Amino acid sequence: MSEETNCIFCKIIRGEIPSAKIYEDDLIYAFLDISPINLGHVLVIPRQHWVGSSEIAEDVAGRMFRVGSRIGVALKRSLDYDGFNLHLADGACAGQVVMHAHLHVVPRGADDGFRWNWRQMQYSSDSVRTEILNKIVEKLKF
Ligand code: 5GP
Ligand code: ZN
Repeated sequence: MSEETNCIFCKIIRGEIPSAKIYEDDLIYAFLDISPINLGHVLVIPRQHWVGSSEIAEDVAGRMFRVGSRIGVALKRSLDYDGFNLHLADGACAGQVVMHAHLHVVPRGADDGFRWNWRQMQYSSDSVRTEILNKIVEKLKF
């Protein structure tokens, strides 16, 4: 299984850096984020060092999503949250700081005062939308 000597999350998995463990199994490890958006914010990481989300093996990615969702439900039941966001930053420009793929489970309350800075652009015409669509589909590989 691949590990990176200097990766902070690989160090957490090896136990070289302490962490507040929520859950672990053969494929993944979940622990409290050290600087939570809301209290109880959890990170779900693969045991293997992958950087981008598309590199993660399908069984591991599935487990990350499944466990992340279950932790989200546990956050609602245990700490009285109303919902949660599952968030994954892929690439520095998308906000990825730690280059070991990870899924954030961010518990949310109706009045928690946190807002994603979400904007909504428009396609200037149907043909522009079709052009964009075709470019994406052309590059889609499995
Ligand atoms: P990113 O911005 O890469 O999506 O998220 C990285 C997350 O890792 C941040 O929310 C940050 O608070 C968390 N983090 C960074 N270093 C540590 C650490 O040493 N321990 C824990 N528990 N979380 C960390
Ligand atoms: Zn790593």
